[in-house]
This record gives sequence, structure tokens and C-alpha cells, in this order.
Amino acid sequence: MKELAQSESEKNGRETTAGIRALKRHGNENRHAPDELLFEGEPVGTGFAIGPAFIAGEAPAPEPGARLSALPPEQERTRFNEAVGRSITQLTKLRGRLALLPEESQVEIGPLLDVYQRMLGPSRLQRGVMARIDEGLTAEASVHDETEALAGTMLSSPGGEALAGEEAAAAERRAGEFREIGRRLIRNLTRTPFLALGHFPDGAVLVAETLRPADAALIDPSRVGAVVLESGGTTGHTAIMLRALGIPSVLAVQGVLTDLANGTTLVVNGDTGEVIRNPEPKTLRQAQRHVAAYARERQQLGRLKRLSSRMASGEKIQLQANLELPAELPLIAQSGAAGIGLLRTEFLFINAEKLPDEAAQYEIYASVVAAMGSDPTTIRVLDWGGEKQSEALNRAGFSGDGEDNENPALGLRGIRLLLRYPALLETQFAAILRAAAKGPVQILLPMVTLASEIETAREIYERVARRLKRKGVGIGDPLPPLGAMIETPGAALTAEALARYVDFLAIGTNDLTMYTLATDRASAETASLYDPLHPAVLMMISGVVTAALHERKPVSLCGEIAGDPRITPLLIGLGLRSLSMTASAVPRVKQVVRSSRYEDCHMLARRILAETDGTEIRRLLEEFREA
Ligand code: PEP
Ligand code: MG
Repeated sequence: MKELAQSESEKNGRETTAGIRALKRHGNENRHAPDELLFEGEPVGTGFAIGPAFIAGEAPAPEPGARLSALPPEQERTRFNEAVGRSITQLTKLRGRLALLPEESQVEIGPLLDVYQRMLGPSRLQRGVMARIDEGLTAEASVHDETEALAGTMLSSPGGEALAGEEAAAAERRAGEFREIGRRLIRNLTRTPFLALGHFPDGAVLVAETLRPADAALIDPSRVGAVVLESGGTTGHTAIMLRALGIPSVLAVQGVLTDLANGTTLVVNGDTGEVIRNPEPKTLRQAQRHVAAYARERQQLGRLKRLSSRMASGEKIQLQANLELPAELPLIAQSGAAGIGLLRTEFLFINAEKLPDEAAQYEIYASVVAAMGSDPTTIRVLDWGGEKQSEALNRAGFSGDGEDNENPALGLRGIRLLLRYPALLETQFAAILRAAAKGPVQILLPMVTLASEIETAREIYERVARRLKRKGVGIGDPLPPLGAMIETPGAALTAEALARYVDFLAIGTNDLTMYTLATDRASAETASLYDPLHPAVLMMISGVVTAALHERKPVSLCGEIAGDPRITPLLIGLGLRSLSMTASAVPRVKQVVRSSRYEDCHMLARRILAETDGTEIRRLLEEFREA
């Protein structure tokens, strides 16, 4: 562990590179007790927990349903080829992580990955599946039958007599490999989440290699003490979900699963990114004090709820909440947020079997809008693509992930997908317009890069509104404001022109950082490069605020940095007056707002904008915090 940590730190050129330091802390006096180990990862910023480890494995692959396909064989072949492509990408990622594992694991896993990758290439398996598809079977049934048939051949000897000893063990292994690759393909065909949470003990720490946003959305926060993952980045959608659910979480903790047994005690600090395995009694006592202190702090922050978010110098700063799941509504009410600045509607699609129709969507939007009373709710229309996957959308044929789309983050994402399939957008606009009768609503368009996208979306919006009016449906007059997310350098640099076509702008720094720095927001490998405080990102935020001011359009910021109290003075200094964040962050940010003076924030922002070095920018923020 220690050697791994050192070599990786050197490679990454910084001492505390998250996720790769696994230090043996102390020798243990009790020679039978395992040593305490400290791991470091990317903190999600959600408090502290102690609990037994629960290693979450993959969910069993679904049984193939209908065996005979209703689709022509060419389409089933395409589906199969896409599943092969996804499986290869997953295995390549696993191979990339191999170098970080202890040598014994590398020796064990490396050849296995070779076998899987060979099977996915031009192989007997491929040919067999294609032949079954041509006979009219679904891709799932073809994969299932072919891998079972191949496994069966492995288990029987050429002469039909029973295998024994080493020969039998090798045959079992080989058969297992076919079944495993079959399960992976079927899971990728059916987009089944990879996680099994059966028998999860209440309060345990869920430890897994990876967790997809769809899996994270299924977690019950009242049962899960904490989450520790070997993969992921802090602004990926998995991290956003975990933060929204208020679960103490640390991501990108490489090596944490190595030699970990279920039930091992873990201390998880979601604020610093530390994970301690097998804490010594002294560490455990300290951690218990930390948990109690954290609970007291939350209580104190709760008292801020009724106080206004006005700066010490008098300026009012609007603090709103982001909502990922309706389950968060009570948290939003407790946080004292002044409305919802970003309602991500992806949850309606994420684990759905079929697309939610207008009535189903209306029901959800109307209940949220009604719960917010006179505070506004900003509803963003579906932002699909990238890391987010939806079985319902795929089944309905609305896919941004076509065979020629190797890079979904740059493909049919957000507004692009909606304009390709306007029926989706029409349904969503209609449901939102109807919900607007329950209270103040705003509508946001995701991933806009062109004014023409806004124009087309607005035409659809107005057409839907006219249709509803003709039917006598009450939809508020004037129509709810229509805004655009600024999430790409292209949009940021042309924000002034885009602002002319909308009623407001919302800066999405999660994607803006990713696209500006060409760094995947959800990747552990590039986590150290993903920096929303990079001067280029800050210059863009500043430019968008100025552009909005020129066009006299309101602008807010709803990326994850809006919820980081260390960054609040900088954002205010850059001219922002409206921030939207995960509900649990509102009290801490409000505390900073109330204790800051605008002039100081302005000076801080000017100094920071003149900086070109990220470390210096962090130092200035730290200095401001301590002053
Ligand atoms: C963003 O990109 O900053 C944002 C708020 O949108 P999302 O995180 O949902 O992509
Ligand atoms: Mg975004």
C-alpha cells in the first residue's frame, strides 16, 4: 500500500493527490488486530460517519425476457454491437486501473481481461450470437443461449466422460468466463444497474468500485451510513446525487477494496476525503466525538434558516436549492433556501421502465411547485446524454448514444436531443406550463450553444402554450420566463448574444469546467485536473455576469461550486447575486454571506482574476477566509 501511494504521489506531482494515498498509520500494539489504514479520496462534502463496510457487488443480470424479437435482425445486430462497444469501454477502463492494484491482483486480473476482450472481438461467441439473431431471437436471448452453449462445451469432455481434478477446475473457470461476459453483455443490452444492495445492514458504509447515477438514485439515505467508491469525480452526477441525499461520501479512493472484508469498521469523512479502515480505539473515540460535533453544528446552522441572506454591507444574495429527487423536498424546506434554482428533471427518466407522460410529469412538477409556495421553482427540461442513461428513453428509441457517437458528452446532449425529438420537449413544456398554475415557475434549457436552439425551443414553447390555452387550460399570463444554461465555452463567450433570446441565464460550472479544461467531470483519473477555480473558468464566469448585466438579464450560478462556502466571497465579488446549491449547503453559505462585505469580495475577485496559478487562487481564498 505504502509503496503504491508513494509512487503514485510522485507520478501526480502533488503530495496529497486524492484517491491514491493509502498510508499505514500506526503499528498496532495488539498483534492480532489488523492495522489501521488511512486512505484519501475526493470528498463529496457531506459530513462524517462510522460504520461496518458493505461491499456492493453487481446486481444479477436480468433473465432475458421475450425470446423472439419484434425488431428486424439488423436492429438487433446494432443493439448487440452497441453492447459489445460499451463492454469493451468498461473493460478498457478496468485495465487502466490495474496498475494501481497490488501485484498479485494484477497477475490475477490481467489475463482475465485479455480473455474477455478476445471474446468481444471477432470470435466464436460473436458469430454464434449473430447466427441466433438471424434466426429471429432478441439480442439478449441470443447472448444468453450462445454463452450457455459455449460454457456447456467447456464443461463436457470430447469423449463425453466426466472431467476431474485440475482439468475439471480449468473447464469450470473457462465456462465461468463465458457466463460472465454473457452477463455483462445482457446488462449492457438492458441497461441494468450494476449494483446489488440486498442484505444491506442499516447504517453500513457502502463500498463499491463504481456507482452509476441510476444506482445512486435508488439508495435510501436513511439506511446508508456512508458511501466510498474507488471511482468517480466530485461533480459527476453520482456525486451530485449523493450530496443531494446528504450521504457522507468519498469518491476516487483507489485501492480501498483491496483486501477489504464485509463488516470491517470504516470511518468516512465526507468533508476531507479521509477514509480510515480498522480505526484504533483512540482514532475511533476521536471519530465518535467528530460525529457528535457534526450533529451539533448542523443544529446550530439550522437556526440560520429564518435569518435573511443579506451581506454585512446590506446587499441581498438569493440562495436557492438544487433538486435532484422529490425526496429532497423536506431538506429544502429545512435549509431555508429561497426557492429552487435548478430542478433537474432527469430523475423522472433515470430508472423508469417507460417514459413519463404529460400527466405523470405534471403531477410531480405541480407537487414541487405547490410545496414551494410563493418561492420560485426553476425547472430544467431534460438534460440527457453523457454519463446519464435511461432505459425508458432507449426503449422508446430516443437515444443520443447512437453507434456513431463514441463521445456522448460531445453528442446529442440536452437541448440537442430534445430538438431532435421535439415530442419529448412538447410533453415536458405542457406539463410544466400546467404546473405553473400552482406557483411561480421558470424554465431552463440545458446545454445551449446556439441562439437558434433557443429560438426553436421558444417556438415550440409558445405553440404548446397556445394549444393549452385553446383547450381552456389555465397556464398563467405572461408565460413563465425561459432561460438558458451556460455550460460550454462557446455559450460563455457568446453569452451576450444568447442573453438577448432568453429571460435569464444560469451558469452551470460543472459542465463549463469539463468542457473548458477538456477534463471528464466524473473521472477519477483526471480528478486532479478538474478545477472550477482554473483562471479560464473564472474568466468565463466573470464574462457571463458582465454579459447578463449589459443585457439587463438576471444571472445565477448552479454548479457545485455554488455550495462551497470557501468560494462564496469570490462568486459574489464576480458579480453574482443568485446562487443555487445542494440544500444542505445553504446554511453554511448563508453564514458566509452574512459575515462578508461586498467591497472586500469585490477586491478579492479582482486579485484572483489577475492570478494565473490555481494554487495561488486557493491561497487567496484561504487567506480571505481566515481574515
Ligand atoms: C452544471 O453543469 O453545472 C449543471 C448545473 O448541470 P448538471 O450538473 O446537471 O449537468
Ligand atoms: Mg450541466
